[in-house]
Amino acid sequence: MAFLKEEILKIRKQVMEKDFSRMNDRQRQAVFTTEGPLLVLAGAGSGKTTVLVNRIANLVRYGKAYESSFVQDTLTDEDVECCKAFLLGGELPDLVRARLSVSACPPWKVMAITFTNKAAGELKERLCSMLGEDGNDIWASTFHSSCARILRRDGDRLGYTSHFTIYDSDDSKRLMKEVMRELDISEKSLSPKAVLGEISRAKDELTSPEEFESGAGDDFRLKLVARAYRLYQRRLEDSDAMDFDDLIVNTVRLFQKCPEVLEYYQDRFRYIMVDEYQDTNHAQYEFVNLLARKSNNLCVVGDDDQSIYKFRGATIENIMNFEQDFRGAAVIRLEQNYRSTQNILDAANAVISNNTERKGKNLWTAAGAGEQVKLHTAENEQDEADRIARMILEGVSAGRKFSDYAILYRMNSQSVMFERMFAKQGIPHRIIGGTRFFDRKEVRDMISYLSVVNNPGDEIRLRRVINTPKRGIGDRTVDTAAQIGQQVGESLFEVISHASEYPPISRAAGKLAQFSGMMQEFIDKNEAGGLLPSELYGELLERIGYVEFLREDEPEKAEDRIENVQELSSMLQRYEQEAGEEASLSGFLEEVALFTDIDNYDHDADSVVLMTIHSAKGLEFPVVFLPGWEEGIFPGMSVLYNPAEVEEERRLAYVAITRAREELLIYNAESRMIFGTTSRNKLSRFAEEIPEELVERSRSREYAYRTGVTMPTFTGGGVAQAGGQGQDARTKQGGFSSQIYKPNPVKPAPAGTFRAGDSVEHKTFGTGLVLTATPMANDTLLEIAFEKVGTKKLFANFARLNKL
Ligand code: ATP
Ligand code: MG
Repeated sequence: MAFLKEEILKIRKQVMEKDFSRMNDRQRQAVFTTEGPLLVLAGAGSGKTTVLVNRIANLVRYGKAYESSFVQDTLTDEDVECCKAFLLGGELPDLVRARLSVSACPPWKVMAITFTNKAAGELKERLCSMLGEDGNDIWASTFHSSCARILRRDGDRLGYTSHFTIYDSDDSKRLMKEVMRELDISEKSLSPKAVLGEISRAKDELTSPEEFESGAGDDFRLKLVARAYRLYQRRLEDSDAMDFDDLIVNTVRLFQKCPEVLEYYQDRFRYIMVDEYQDTNHAQYEFVNLLARKSNNLCVVGDDDQSIYKFRGATIENIMNFEQDFRGAAVIRLEQNYRSTQNILDAANAVISNNTERKGKNLWTAAGAGEQVKLHTAENEQDEADRIARMILEGVSAGRKFSDYAILYRMNSQSVMFERMFAKQGIPHRIIGGTRFFDRKEVRDMISYLSVVNNPGDEIRLRRVINTPKRGIGDRTVDTAAQIGQQVGESLFEVISHASEYPPISRAAGKLAQFSGMMQEFIDKNEAGGLLPSELYGELLERIGYVEFLREDEPEKAEDRIENVQELSSMLQRYEQEAGEEASLSGFLEEVALFTDIDNYDHDADSVVLMTIHSAKGLEFPVVFLPGWEEGIFPGMSVLYNPAEVEEERRLAYVAITRAREELLIYNAESRMIFGTTSRNKLSRFAEEIPEELVERSRSREYAYRTGVTMPTFTGGGVAQAGGQGQDARTKQGGFSSQIYKPNPVKPAPAGTFRAGDSVEHKTFGTGLVLTATPMANDTLLEIAFEKVGTKKLFANFARLNKL
């Protein structure tokens, strides 16, 4: 070999550095630290997730080449010349790159775990764009779906079939209600939700029903919870079902019980990476710990300041103790923020510095100061929503996209106001969480039907659909049948299939047989294969007459609900396209069960996104609105007097602020109607904690008073006012402001009178031509080509259009 080994090693390093030249030095150090435990601890927006993605790319491309002094025999002089050319700006052939690697890791031996499906999807996308086809083979998923995958394969060791059902929180609640009824625990003394909360916490701690019971001691209440936990768990097992927490707990149990299964997965995953490690709970910790124990190649990234799931059992200790738990762990800290402007970052740093329980770090950015943080005091929640809507429309007319904007709130219930306001103003938007598509009654009904077809042992879902639409099968009959089932050791479905054999329910045998016979047909069809899930769904929908049922049930809501049922069909079809030959009903139901609404959020769609701060973790947006920054809302009422909990809320405030790249707008309202009562809250302490020089303050009322305009806009310099809640005598004039904020009186044309070809005028979008007019429920959906803003879909009643 003409090149000296040292020279080759140096060139190899340079090539690798060039390949990851977008990273800064510290980030690159993390990327090239491949062996042994590694903790990347760093503030928001410092590129932790980016490091994780690049680290995987390095593992798959080069393995541990950077640290290794081993040189491949296959490396030719020509290869080295190629590398030199690459360093001077040429291309590096893949084959040469491959020969530089040292025990490169096959992609299927890498596992990357994040918290939301959305984040997992994004991770996959980024991996595929860096690694091409290989990216698809990496296990990049959430804790829950990794565990579900493991249990589908090996759950039989714990007595589950590979078709087990995953119960979501609504299913769990139904089951808990039944369990409590059976145990004669009154819902008044103990709410099912509270019991489930306690069970969930126990599961986060890997506490079994038996352990819980012995830990309950003489505490009457805990003893009741223990009994409920035990029966709840038994019923789940009887139905071949697991709740969300069980997915993790059972995987850990499986690993503990079957060393050979654990070993299989330990060998399978040579490298494990966990994003947002600060939010792992004990069960998740144990899962990772067991998996990584053999290879010891565990890399976790996180930020102690962003730990926001304590209420779900996440322990910040997992990150604090990492160095002790994993001996010899390397720790890398990142300090440069690449996301936000200096003003936004300073605001975040200032707020979080009020927490005492933290490792402490400061972020800096090379981006300029940027705009000041806007803090606006609205008159009430309606005014707040109205102003945000206006800001968005102004921004869009000045060249921004709708998708540049995010509205992040503390509680789901805060979304309603925006939903209504945006519909009215024709602002495209999507709500993530809250009234989830899958929470709608009609969607749940149809999912339940499909679940029973997939798994007739699923008693909860069977009960949901057995008399929907009405078939004259009473609750009493179903209860009796369930009791019989428990006595004879048969599932509810089996009992109703042979109802005539059981005297207590034989009177209803005809109806039961008709229902079970029909379901059996679908079960058989599904098992026989040959029908696509969407085809089966279509037949089922037809057969049970569900659409007619919706029409009769509540005619005024029928159209929307029928649309939802149809949307489910489109989802099935989309699923089939994606899954290809592997498409199956159980595959679809699994996706649905693991679906949190974050998946609905599509980067490409141009719409404003609304979600809770919790779901925004890890995401970023050019402009972020933070409504409802008031004492009693954020921080919430229940934590006001608990310093530890206020610290958790403050971390949430830090997460919220650091989602913004360019602009941050915080709102409070002088008065707010929430949960049916109106209250006047002080400005949130978190807003007060932002240094005055970073903030530009304004108020709705005063501005209106000074200029006398009827519809104030945000711009115009605002009026700075120290403290933000100083009561101005002028604002107390009764009735004064409420008149100002009434919308301009517009007499819109009635919905039904619009036709294609009409010329219309919209307050914000200007003039346009109606392209289509489709009557829907009590309204008409119009597709209008506006001269200025292009084609939009609007509901006539909301849009308040004038006909020209
Ligand atoms: P969070 O704490 O919110 O999860 P994070 O630390 O994971 O944030 P990333 O989401 O990885 O941060 O990165 C934030 C932004 O900075 C992204 O837009 C990313 O593309 C960009 N970024 C990261 N590292 C660099 C870099 N070295 N050069 C330029 N941009 C970078
Ligand atoms: Mg991240």
